[in-house]
Amino acid sequence: MVGPVSEAVVVVPGIGRSVRGQAQAMANQGLVKRINRARVLDAIRHQQPVSRSALADHLGLDRKSLTNLAQELLSEGLVCEAGRRQSGRGRPQTLLALDLSSPGVVGLAIDADRISGVLLDIGGGCRLTRRAALGAQAGIAEILAGVGEVYAALAAAAAGRLRGVGVAVPGIVDMGTGVLQRSVNLPALEGLDLRVALGRVLPGPLEIEESSRAKALAEKWFGLAQGVPNFVCIDLGIGIGAGLVQDRRPYMPAGGYAGEIGHVMVDPQGPLCRCGHRGCLEACISERRLLERINAAEGAAWAGLDEVSEVTPRSRPILEEAGYRLGLALAYLTNIICPPMIILNGSLLRFADVVMPAIERGLEEGALADCRARVRLVVSTLAEAGAMGAAARALADVYEVDGLVQV
Ligand SMILES: [Zn+2]
Repeated sequence: MVGPVSEAVVVVPGIGRSVRGQAQAMANQGLVKRINRARVLDAIRHQQPVSRSALADHLGLDRKSLTNLAQELLSEGLVCEAGRRQSGRGRPQTLLALDLSSPGVVGLAIDADRISGVLLDIGGGCRLTRRAALGAQAGIAEILAGVGEVYAALAAAAAGRLRGVGVAVPGIVDMGTGVLQRSVNLPALEGLDLRVALGRVLPGPLEIEESSRAKALAEKWFGLAQGVPNFVCIDLGIGIGAGLVQDRRPYMPAGGYAGEIGHVMVDPQGPLCRCGHRGCLEACISERRLLERINAAEGAAWAGLDEVSEVTPRSRPILEEAGYRLGLALAYLTNIICPPMIILNGSLLRFADVVMPAIERGLEEGALADCRARVRLVVSTLAEAGAMGAAARALADVYEVDGLVQV
């Protein structure tokens, strides 16, 4: 189940000010009702089991409105009655909880070497995870087959009862058209209309999200950023990117070009990057690059950083250098936007004892001390964050209204 209570924020344009006409007023009434319904559901998610009167007090709603909204949620099967609680001298109060038998959602993450998937219940609880490996340089057919395979296993566990699917994809996704405009790490999918391609193997409704933003969403819903309005999540894998969240919403300028911290130059003499530039953070410290260097130093043939068993005197300087260069890139980020929290996610953090002090050194050397002092640097505790964030996108349709109610 999801973590501690976070405050719901409601922004209703036009409400409280003079409205232009009756049609506008009616439209706003409908919007307010949808928002209040989402607020009730979200409050039940965080406080269950909870009485109607406690919900009304918490949300500042009158009892009649609350009763009507709760009845709507009960009749739709999103909520169920969950026993009674004696409160003072009055009659025992009936408690409400999410109906976890209600259809859940599937989240899928496409990475360069695998497809990962999670099945979440309506409350965000993870019921099942699945993975399928992809071969090197996998083509469209292999990727879509992997997506279909992982989805089928999760859908079967849910007896086919699902309310939506989210998919996280690395690269620049045009959120308007669904076209993957650029993906350094999945070139086979570049230029593809993802909604059409994924629609061949997945039923709708389908939500698509960029990988780093999906990981940030996972932190907002399930991880260390619950209740934190502004933060950055750094995604350290075969590709490196940043998901930025501002006022509880993903920062997403037109075209989707933001958070490309993997292509910040950290070593002018460094290796060529697949983007065409030299010395990018990703070229220096991507999982693939680090693995090449560690395997060469150790005379090993590990396939992933997850397999590296221990830090030796041969691998330590490689990891320390990686941490230092990451610290430099984070220093630029810190000086420019000074996020209150930076969350690091990736298998490099398995070696946090070695890597974190080196990151701190890079940060200290590169960032203004006053900026650095305002940033909390933490390591993600989530497994399968990409798939979890993709699932959160699908779940958001239940708990948010046009992005107006945000957890
Ligand atoms: Zn680059």
